[in-house]
Order: sequence, then C-alpha cells, then structure tokens
Amino acid sequence: MNIKRNYQYLLSDLTSLKGVGIKTTNLLKKKKINNIFDLLWKLPKSYTDRSLSSKIKDLKIGENQTISIIPKKYSFPRIRNLPNKVLCSDETGEIECIFFNGYEGYIKKILPLGKEIIVSGKIGFFRNKYQITNPKYVSEDSTLIKQKHNTYSLTEGISEKVYNKIINQIIEKLPQLDEWHSNSIMEKFQNISWNDAIKELHKPENIGNYTKIFYQRLAFDEIFSTFLVNSEIRKKIKKKKKVSKIINLIKQNEIISKLNFSLTNDQLTVLNEINNDLCHSTKMFRLLQGDVGSGKTIVSLLAAFNSVSSGFQVALMAPTEILARQHYELAKKIFPQKFNIELISGKFNYKEKKNILTNLAKNNIDIIFGTHAIFQKKVIFNKLGLIIIDEQHKFGVNQRKKLSDKGGKDCDVLLMTATPIPRTLTMTMYGDMDLSIIKEKPKSRKPIKTYSKLESKIDDVIKFIQNEIEADNQIFWVCPLIEESKKIDHSSSVKKFEYLKKIFPNQVALLHGKTTSQEKEDILNGFLNKDFKILVSTTIIEVGIDFPNANVIVIENANKFGLSQLHQLRGRVGRGNKSSTCILMFKSNLSENAKKRIDILKKSNDGFLISEEDMKIRGFGDVLGFKQSGIKNFKLADPIHNSDLFLLAEREIKRIENSNENIKRFKPLIKLYDRADIINDIA
Ligand code: ADP
Ligand code: MG
Repeated sequence: MNIKRNYQYLLSDLTSLKGVGIKTTNLLKKKKINNIFDLLWKLPKSYTDRSLSSKIKDLKIGENQTISIIPKKYSFPRIRNLPNKVLCSDETGEIECIFFNGYEGYIKKILPLGKEIIVSGKIGFFRNKYQITNPKYVSEDSTLIKQKHNTYSLTEGISEKVYNKIINQIIEKLPQLDEWHSNSIMEKFQNISWNDAIKELHKPENIGNYTKIFYQRLAFDEIFSTFLVNSEIRKKIKKKKKVSKIINLIKQNEIISKLNFSLTNDQLTVLNEINNDLCHSTKMFRLLQGDVGSGKTIVSLLAAFNSVSSGFQVALMAPTEILARQHYELAKKIFPQKFNIELISGKFNYKEKKNILTNLAKNNIDIIFGTHAIFQKKVIFNKLGLIIIDEQHKFGVNQRKKLSDKGGKDCDVLLMTATPIPRTLTMTMYGDMDLSIIKEKPKSRKPIKTYSKLESKIDDVIKFIQNEIEADNQIFWVCPLIEESKKIDHSSSVKKFEYLKKIFPNQVALLHGKTTSQEKEDILNGFLNKDFKILVSTTIIEVGIDFPNANVIVIENANKFGLSQLHQLRGRVGRGNKSSTCILMFKSNLSENAKKRIDILKKSNDGFLISEEDMKIRGFGDVLGFKQSGIKNFKLADPIHNSDLFLLAEREIKRIENSNENIKRFKPLIKLYDRADIINDIA
C-alpha cells in the first residue's frame, strides 16, 4: 500500500508506530519526545558493524568491530577499581576483554573458556595488547552477525533494539515533502531534499559528519524557521501604528551638556537610532545591547526624557529595587525639577502605593521606576509612551511580545541587556527586535588588571587588600556555589566571612542565598555608603549596580565559572575612574587549556570577543545559562560553528521580506520545527 504522507504524519502520536505502546510512549515523553518528528533527532551515537567480522591481527584501533574469539584465561583482581579481564585469542593473536563493572559470574557466563564467542565493541590497544572494554555485543550465535546496528544513548527502559526498530520504521515511511526553499538556496545545498537529508543523517557511517551537505541543509532549516517566525513577529509589530513622539533636540542636548562626562560615539549613535524610532509612526521594539559598564543607563534615560518632553509617561523596570533606586536617583539628578519622578518600592506601605497608583492613572507622574511590580495588572497608566527594561536577558520571545502589547497602543519598548553575545546568537534570540549595540567603553575607563593566584597564596591577596583599604578602596569577595546545594554554598561564604572578619574587624559584610531581600538591600546600601570595605558574597549581586568606589574583585574557585561569567563578575568593578583589579583564585595549578582561557580574559576586556571564545570552548547552550533562559536549543545548528548558515538565513529572510513573497509554502517547516506556537495565524 502506498499512502501519500505529508508533514502531518510526522506530527502524529508515537502510538501510531508499530510496536510502540503506552509504556514506550510515556518513557519517550519524559525525554520530551512527543511525536514522530521529535524522534528524528534521536541520532545514533555509534554503530556496531556486525557484518564485518575481523581477525585479531587486522583489527583497527579506535573502531567498532566484531570478532570471533575464544576465551582462554580469567583474571579477577580483588582490588577495588581494578577491572576484571578475560584474555581471549583467535589463530592470529590475542585480545583482552575488560569489564569495569561486570561480576565474575556474569563474565564467566557470557565468555565461557574454550568456546568460540562473538564479541563487538570499540577496539583499544594498551601495553602491546588489543583490548575491548565492556564488549557491547556478545553472542555464540553466528546467525546474529548480519547487519549494521545503531547504538543510541538510551532512555531508561527502551532498548537499543526498540530504538533501531522504531527509527527504521519512521525512516522507511518518511514523507516526501514539497520543497519550501527557493531554488537559489537549494543550489547552495546541492539540491538535497529534506527527506534525503534526514535519511543521510541517520546513516550510521555519517555520525558526527557535521560538514556534510545534508547536515548543513537540516541545520539551515532550523535556523531559517526561527528567523522566519522572528520576521513575522517583527512585521506584526511594525504594522501597529502609534502617535509619533516629537523630539526637541535642544532640550535633550541641554541635559547632555550638564553631564559630568561626554557621551561616547556609540552612545550618540544608539541614542539617535532610538530617537528615530520614537518619532516614527510605528511602535519601537528595540534591544539595546552593550557590555557591562558601556553606559546604557544614560542612553535610556535620555530616551525617557524625550518621551516625557513629548507628553508621555515612561516606566523603567529594573531587576532589583536597588538598581531601580539607582536609576531613579540619577534621573532625579539630571532631569528638570518640573518632571514628576517616582520610585515604587515593595517597602512602601499601602497608602504610599495607592497614592502612586492614583497619580499614575491621573498622569501626575512622568516617570516611574521599579521592579516587575510596575507591570502588575492594577497599575494603570494614563498615557504610557515608553517602557524601558533593564538587564532583561531572562525574557523569552513570548514574554517580550506580551510586553509590547501590554503598554498600549502608543507605547514604545526598549530592552537593555548587558550580555554581549555573538551576532548570530543575537539574531536568533532577539531577531524579533531591532538592535542597537554599544561596543565602545567610555574613554575615561581604565582597563581592569586581571591576575590569577593559587589559593595557597592567599596571604599575598590579603596584603594587597590591606593596601587597597588603606587607599580607601572597597572590595568584592566572591565565593561561588561549590555544590549545587545552598547549604554548602552558604557555609563556604560564611567561613570566608569569618576568616576575613578576623583580619579586618568591622570592615566585612556577607551576602548569600539566605539573606532576605530586605537585609540584602541594607547591606548593598551600606556598601555604597562605604560603611564597610569588603563585601563577601555568593554570585547573587546583580550586574547592573554601580559601585563606583569598589575597584577590587576577588573571585574564588574561578574555574567554576565560564569566561563570560567571569567577565560579567569582573564588570562589577572598574566603573569609576580609579584603576581596578580582578584576582582569580584557583585551588590548584591550571591546565594548559585553562591557562589559555584565562589569558583571553587577561588580554581582553571586550565582552563580545570573550563570549565568542567561551562559546567556542563550551558550546552556546552552556554559556550564560541560555539553557535555562527558555530559548529552544537547536538540534543541529550551532551559532558559532555554522555562522555562515546564520548569515545565509538572514539574507534569505531579507530577500523574502523585500520581495513580499507569500510564505505559505513554509507552513510545514514552521509547524514541524514547532515555532508556530509563537505566531499561530501564519499562512
Ligand atoms: P551599563 O551599560 O552596564 O548599564 P551604566 O549605564 O551603569 O553601564 O554606566 C556605568 C558607569 O559609567 C556609570 O557610572 C555612568 O555614569 C558612567 N558613564 C556612562 N557613560 C559614560 C561616558 N560616556 N563617559 C564616562 N562615564 C560614563
Ligand atoms: Mg546597567
């Protein structure tokens, strides 16, 4: 029977597969494999070629091979950690089967002395002898040696055999889908169809062949579908008309001229981009990206000033109260007296809060600062014209879209992030927004001197700190999570606090995961007011807060952090005009590789470069916790290694946008790659 299958087949339930019942379905669902399409990305890890049986003298080291051998001698050492071994041979040589966790009885059963047995696995070579460690496949039955057999990383309860069976079944029935890409794109991928590419992907000999054309095509599909959805969201936002703001540059420049610094070129450029959006007749939806300390706050406040001058209200949301307060105080300082500027705080009593809400609704407040509390339902604005969100990298696409709707019809949105990431990743994560980037740091900034120190040399560090304190400077001392356990985290920072307190009485305070938010604020305010000199903490101090007088940061156990994280931590100092220092402490000598990484940090203060290097080493998912941030990880595409594909996808999207092409043909692509939850009325 030849059923014409379309993409719907791929979205059907797993139970529609032969041999898959409720039990297997539930096991797979736990692994987020919900339909047939999801199973396509369950790729073989390796394979055993049972068709090729070899002789010992012809074995290829490092490859998976199958051989027929006779067990000759057991060795079961009684010492822990030493593996059990079985010496085996054929007429051409000897090989050892090594078992790290096989019991004697089991080993004797599967490898009985003197019998001809077939084993398979990866061939190793150690002390002049061939080895197979934990042979995967052991049998006396030579009829079983017939074909290639894929090995999968196993889901509990589902055997390799079942995986082979169901995946082969899917590949056999794989639908021929109508091609969604343009001819010019298809030429780039040697016209390989989606169907053929998937088949290639599952061929065991293609495992890990990331450079092959089938792989590139499939990676491109993933990237392209993401970009297409972003493009649709962008189009929708651009369709929304608003009352344009009228900007008075003379007034704006008066504010700028009163600052005690001059704006950098990048700050001026992005301010101009934002102003253009404010004046435009469609809603702004813009991301302002800039490394820590690049001076985003002032740019956003100038946008706020222009919006208020144009008759609108502005809301600025910060991740913490202390940061909200810092922005609020800056605004009070630089804006005209006649502006009504308020801070809404969790600490305010009912009456104070109610007062603020009433005044917001009556348009008696021009700018409101606060945490996420300013976007609660009960907060009603009279004429909200701009929402600014600081340090927002934890928002997903859906949350952002809601935000843009929430402000009402005339409201522009400006998001700010201090997470410098490579452009390909920005395009992916924030492709629904327009982008402004500040690359340059203020010229007055001195580079942060970065050193690494062994923990055993802590006395040197203490001496250094003594001098800094005498020079009236302040110090951050960061103790990272040692285990994923709050308890241990707590005790390590407490210990360090006690230790430092003995050396510097009355000069040390402690912040950790158990500090209440009220205590935390008091401590941070105390640090700002120079009530004490050393702040010991776990990594819970947010990046955005300005401590102009803190110019030393000591980071313990620095190898627990990725480069980007270290860079972000380091960005807490060096915000004033003094020169500053970052001391990375390590428990033991660094490996060559670790040294290379730390060198990048020592040589460069460019967050974009550092994050790129970091991602080359660790993969993009692990850097800066993107895995937790709710963005979907790609199954194949990699923003670092496939940057050419990202750029190609960007060009193709632009081409489609400019030519106003109908995008209906991409419906299967979007449905399959599950980006349709973001825009459900596409096509
Ligand atoms: P971030 O981009 O990390 O939010 P901030 O806006 O907090 O950085 O700025 C960090 C510090 O740099 C602040 O103290 C701010 O006053 C100062 N700053 C901002 N722009 C400039 C500039 N052009 N020249 C000198 N200092 C600046
Ligand atoms: Mg900031």
